[in-house]
Amino acid sequence: MREFPQSHFANRVQADVPLGSLSPISQVGGGGVPGHFQRPIGWQFLILAEIENFGVLRRHLGRPRVDTLIVDVAARISAVLPDARIVIAGRDMVEIAFESEARLALDMAITALETALDLPFDLDGESHRVHVQFGASAGPTIGARDEVQLIEEAERALADARSERVAVARDVSAGAESVDRAQLASDLTIAINTDQLFLQYQPKVHLRRQEITSVEALVRWNHPIRGLVLPSDFIPIAEESRDIVALTLWTIRRSIRDQKTLAANGHDLRIFINIAGVLLADARFVRTVCALIEASGARLGFEITETSVIRDPESAIANLKIFADIGIVIAIDDYGAGLSSLAYLKQLPARELKIDKLFVTQLTSSNRDPLIVRSTIDLAHALEMEVVAEGVETPAAMALLSVMGCDMIQGFLISRPINLDALIPFLTDEKHLAIAADVRAPFNRLATVWKRG
Ligand code: C2E
Ligand code: MG
Ligand code: MG
Repeated sequence: MREFPQSHFANRVQADVPLGSLSPISQVGGGGVPGHFQRPIGWQFLILAEIENFGVLRRHLGRPRVDTLIVDVAARISAVLPDARIVIAGRDMVEIAFESEARLALDMAITALETALDLPFDLDGESHRVHVQFGASAGPTIGARDEVQLIEEAERALADARSERVAVARDVSAGAESVDRAQLASDLTIAINTDQLFLQYQPKVHLRRQEITSVEALVRWNHPIRGLVLPSDFIPIAEESRDIVALTLWTIRRSIRDQKTLAANGHDLRIFINIAGVLLADARFVRTVCALIEASGARLGFEITETSVIRDPESAIANLKIFADIGIVIAIDDYGAGLSSLAYLKQLPARELKIDKLFVTQLTSSNRDPLIVRSTIDLAHALEMEVVAEGVETPAAMALLSVMGCDMIQGFLISRPINLDALIPFLTDEKHLAIAADVRAPFNRLATVWKRG
């Protein structure tokens, strides 16, 4: 693994930290050669872990004991991340550097650290909780990202983490694109207020009932200069700039309006809306949404990811219960793609679980994915949830999912996301149901079924 230069951290170590204890910890995982990459492409991460209640503990325990507390914290961190390079950077601060091929490794590391550091510490025979806050940065191992930028971003992330009281990570890979992102962020604020956004709807088909029971609303941006911009390019920007609140409220209002149009055309469907994780801890957002839905009587569903719950489980679960209590159906989106925790899964008031398309698109060509999908279906049923497979593109995948007991499917096989104008004739026509009906056709006839659809 690549080492971060010792000198950079060394000048951050304060003189009264017991230096003797530094070396065993700072050598953890430090077997790499500076400048030498074992893997050609990957991510480097820097996490700053800061003891938030340091002042309180110092008053309680006295200075000599509290000044060595950071060594205990660093030891616990090194037990969780044995391959990381860990340096004590002050009385209340540890720096953690490591690499991985996947960016998700950072979220997983922070979650594991939060869990480990949540356990009380035995300090002079007394049990104490040490509250640790995390600010992190991530950048590609290749591409001239220097360590100064990584540490500056991690420091900014830590400042945000202190005020927001959740772990914050910043991605420095955007680099040259950051100006572009800033432009897009300011364009987005205008877009929300000037109807440049629009919704497309993608149906979910219930396999046993042979009917479309709901649709998912997916937002798009018709940018005056760039043309069509997809959500993966602007939702993360909206989350960062907090425009996500206005964007989501716009989406909810538009869905309520479109649901009335659908009903007037004889189609009574629940509309599912994607809700970003940051909103699940926003009490004002929750109140506004409840007022909107109660006033309109709309039948909505919210798609949330598990990763978003893991960030601040207490408020997320409480707010999801508020939503469920007013009749909003909660669906867990992208199941299997992010962090999964059975402990949280059990507590969520969710009625649907959507298996990530990553597992579904490869269903008939991979050996492992059918096993994962099958066990996920069984798990969801045991938790009394219905299962939706997203990303169903072929009749073979649909047939296999049906045999496995999957309740609903969604994907290009049935329909791509389409505008409301196209959705109404699509629903009225009912041709799509012929595709879903063919699920009972023998597997060897599936090629013919596909052509007929
Ligand atoms: P998602 O909620 O998991 O949505 C599914 C994505 O998969 C959609 O991409 C959809 O077009 C695509 N998809 C559907 N069927 C298939 C298929 O058969 N094969 C393949 N390969 N892809 C399929 P889209 O519309 O680009 O949305 C991407 C993500 O953006 C969504 O993932 C969701 O997380 C987010 N998003 C979309 N609209 C909103 C919104 O209003 N608010 C928030 N917060 N996020 C949104
Ligand atoms: Mg979704
Ligand atoms: Mg999804």
